[in-house]
Amino acid sequence: MENYNIDEIRSDFPILERQVWGKPLVYLDNTATSMTPRCVVDAIENVYYHHKANVHRGVHTLSQEATDMQETTRERVRQFINARSTEEIIFTRGTTEAINLVAASYGQLLENGDEIIVTTMEHHANIVPWQLLGRNKRIILRVVPINADGEIDRIAYSSLFNDRTKLVAMCHVSNVLGTVNPIKELIAEAHQNGVPVLIDGAQAVSHIKVDVQDLDADFYAFSAHKMYGPTGIGVLYGKKYLLEMMPPYQGGGEMIGTVSFNNTTWADLPFKFEAGTPDFVGIAALRQAIDYMESIGVERIAAHEHDLLQYATEQMMTIPGMRIFGTSASKCAVISFLVGNAHHYDMGMLLDKLGIAVRTGHHCAQPLMHSLGIEGTVRASFAAYNTRQEIDAFIAALRRVAAMLQ
Ligand code: PLP
Repeated sequence: MENYNIDEIRSDFPILERQVWGKPLVYLDNTATSMTPRCVVDAIENVYYHHKANVHRGVHTLSQEATDMQETTRERVRQFINARSTEEIIFTRGTTEAINLVAASYGQLLENGDEIIVTTMEHHANIVPWQLLGRNKRIILRVVPINADGEIDRIAYSSLFNDRTKLVAMCHVSNVLGTVNPIKELIAEAHQNGVPVLIDGAQAVSHIKVDVQDLDADFYAFSAHKMYGPTGIGVLYGKKYLLEMMPPYQGGGEMIGTVSFNNTTWADLPFKFEAGTPDFVGIAALRQAIDYMESIGVERIAAHEHDLLQYATEQMMTIPGMRIFGTSASKCAVISFLVGNAHHYDMGMLLDKLGIAVRTGHHCAQPLMHSLGIEGTVRASFAAYNTRQEIDAFIAALRRVAAMLQ
């Protein structure tokens, strides 16, 4: 792609210089976690070396600096997803915790017999929290099927709404199929039925420019470590009116107004949902990750990845016995596949010996695997720093491994 300086981008990621089993590392497990550029690691170091103090608790200079860093990131995240207010940005440990927060808190507003719509392609993080709700009351999960290309069955989706439907919870992008769901339309349809929508954006934010107001999402969850950021940090965006009606998720410091043994009141948003000391170091560094991605441009990264997706898919299709799961025209750079009768685990192990890091298994989407009639796949996924040369190395290794296992 023109003006896409891949060498410069790669030089920002020291880990890409690594060797594995004496071969240059070809890292194609970006869906699980993406690598971290030097500027983000420097930001972490900067807090530890120069500004570390607990946030929102001290009048002393270091505490004020650390608090400023955290709250500057909150404003940066607000801009990044175009939320109306920083009150709508809650820091969590990741997408998983963000969804659990909504399930535990919004879930308290649900009643016996209420229904939640999810899709067949959900990650366990967007299935199990809703099932846990069922420990105390009967909550019914209605599941939208998918078609042969791995796209949501729109007719089935429409047919699932009724007056017991209280939430739709679905992914923006599937971590297995790569499918980009038409969430703006799906959200609008849910709203016509008076139902709010939670979007699991874990696989979307580093590939698609997200505007929560334009999408009209009610909740949107994502993880920093999948967007070139630090581990252990995530974001829950929620519309203010919903967050206001929801009870706290966890109790402790920071989330209170006043505490007495008889009566405790809650802090205002967003702090009502942020009990205890947050990972303020990681939060500070999340700002660098967003700045880094936006300095390249999310759309330009996506165009680069799309080129790799097409380049890899075309070559993979020439390998005898190749089956690719997820063939939607609207797809992110994720390729899940099987070759003949070769076991996905064996393929992953052998590819690793050739320096190629891919994912194998059910990818935390067992219900999807069941619907596809398989146990697991091999998954290759691409990021800003992957190259066509790496795809060539991957394809050459894949041909060798496939031939060995036939
Ligand atoms: N949702 C999707 C679609 C994912 O791909 C993942 C992780 O792979 C998650 C949720 C969970 O993210 P985390 O483990 O960062 O909480």
